[in-house]
Amino acid sequence: VTVDLKHNQWTSWNGIRSHRFERYAAPTTEDELAEAIARATTLRPVGTGKSSADICAGASTLLDMRSFVGIESVDPTSMSVTVRAGTPLVDLIRAVEDRGWEIPCLPDIDNVTVGGALATGTHGTSGSPLSAYLSGVRLLGPDGSARSVGVGDPGMDAARLSLGVLGVISTATFSCRPQRRFLISEKPMRDEQWIERYPEWLGTHDFVRILWIPHSGYGYVILGDAVEEAPTRTLRSEPPRLRHRRSVSRLLYGATSRIPALVPAANTILKRLFFSSPVERFGTLYGATVTKSRGSTLELAEWTCAQDSYPEVFREIKAGLSNPRNRAWAHIPMDVRFVDEEPAWLGSGYGHPAVTMGCVTRHPATADSYRAFDLVESVFLGASGRPHWAKRFRARAETLSALWPRWRDFLEERTLRDPQGKFLTPQLRKLLGIAG
Ligand SMILES: Cc1cc2nc3c(=O)[nH]c(=O)nc-3n(C[C@H](O)[C@H](O)[C@H](O)COP(=O)(O)OP(=O)(O)OC[C@H]3O[C@@H](n4cnc5c(N)ncnc54)[C@H](O)[C@@H]3O)c2cc1C
Repeated sequence: VTVDLKHNQWTSWNGIRSHRFERYAAPTTEDELAEAIARATTLRPVGTGKSSADICAGASTLLDMRSFVGIESVDPTSMSVTVRAGTPLVDLIRAVEDRGWEIPCLPDIDNVTVGGALATGTHGTSGSPLSAYLSGVRLLGPDGSARSVGVGDPGMDAARLSLGVLGVISTATFSCRPQRRFLISEKPMRDEQWIERYPEWLGTHDFVRILWIPHSGYGYVILGDAVEEAPTRTLRSEPPRLRHRRSVSRLLYGATSRIPALVPAANTILKRLFFSSPVERFGTLYGATVTKSRGSTLELAEWTCAQDSYPEVFREIKAGLSNPRNRAWAHIPMDVRFVDEEPAWLGSGYGHPAVTMGCVTRHPATADSYRAFDLVESVFLGASGRPHWAKRFRARAETLSALWPRWRDFLEERTLRDPQGKFLTPQLRKLLGIAG
C-alpha cells in the first residue's frame, strides 16, 4: 500500500485502486486513535491495503492502522492473547507460538494487519475463520468512545466480521489452543480423483487444501495430520528446481499477457515443473503450511458455497474454463479450502460448513477484463455462493442481501453503532445498499 502524503492519495498494494483523502492519521495509542476518529467527518481505517475489494479507502480521513501495534496482554490461564489491531498477523502468530499455543486455522498470508484480516473474514482451511477464535473485541465508535464486546454479548457475532462499519477495531482477544505439530504431505492428483475423495479426507485428516491447477487436469493435494512425535524417517523434501518457480511463472505469464490463449500451456508447464513431485513437511501449522513471502502482486477473487454443492460447482467451473469460446483462461492456483460453520453473521460459513475457491490473475492491471472472475462469480451465485469480502466481485446489495440470513440484522446493528455513516464510503454504501 502506498500513502502519498504530498498528493493526499492512497493506492492499493497492487497499484490498481486509489483514493484521495483530506486528512491522514497514523495513531500509535488508543487515545490518538479515538481523537482521530472523533475529528473525522467520514473515515476509513486501513491496514496493509491487501484487499482486492474496494473497501479500504474513499472517506475523507484515512486512518492508517499500521503504527498501532503490539501485544497488549497475555493470559496463560485462559490461553488468550490481546493484540492491537494494526499488528502484523505474523507478530501475533509468533507470540502465540512462543507460548506453545496456536490459533487453529491460519490464512496463507502473514503480513496483513490483524484488524484488516478480521474485518473481512480472513480464513485458512480445516477450521474456522480467524474471527471465530475471538473471545472479545474492543471497538471505537464514531465519537471515539470505546466499547468491548465478548462471546455471548449482543452484537458480538456482527462484530466478528464487520467490514469496519461497526467501529474501528482497537484490540482483539484471541482464545488459543495447545499447539499441534503436523506431518504434511503434498502430491498432484487428477481432478476426477480429488473431487471424489475430498469429502472423505475432511473426516480423516486435520488439514485439507487443494491447489487446483486449471487447464491441467490436476489438483495439488495438501493433506496434514497432527502427530505426537517428529517423524524419524527422512521426509521427501522439495526438489531444488522449486526455487525457480517464481521466475519461471513470471516469464510464462509475462508471455500470456500478450496472448492469453497460451495460459493453458503455461499452466501445464508449471504443473509439470513445480507441482509434480510429492513433498512432505513437518512443523507447526504456521511453520509447515503458511507462505512466508511472495514475489508478485496479484488480484484475487474468492467464492464460497455449502459443502454439498461444491462438486457440481467445480464441474461447472471446469467446463466453463475449458470452453475456448468463453476466453476464460485462469492462472494458477485456484485454491480450494474448507471452513467450518462459523458464528459471524456475514461469514462464509454462517449457517453451514463451506468450501472456498480462489481465482487469481497475475496481471492486476487488466483484472477488469479477466473473464475467469466473471465465470466463477456466475457459477457460485447460481449455487447461492458467497463472495469473500476482501476480494474482487461484482455483486451488490440486491444480490448479496439474499445470501446471508442475518443481513438485515447486520444492517440494523450498523445503524445503531454509526447512525450518521461516518465509517461508510460511497463504495460501501453500494455494497451494503445504504442510501447516500
Ligand atoms: C497474497 C494474498 C493472500 C491472501 N491470503 C488470504 C487467505 O489465505 N485467506 C483469506 O481469507 N484472505 C486472504 N487474503 C485477503 C486478506 O487477508 C484480506 O485482504 C485482509 O483484509 C488484508 O488485511 P489488510 O491489513 O491488508 O486489510 P486492508 O485491506 O487494509 O483492509 C481490509 C478492510 O478492513 C478494514 N479495516 C482495517 N483495519 C481495521 C480496523 N482496525 N478496524 C476496523 N476495520 C478495519 C478496512 O477499512 C477494509 O475495509 C489474501 C490477500 C493477499 C493479497
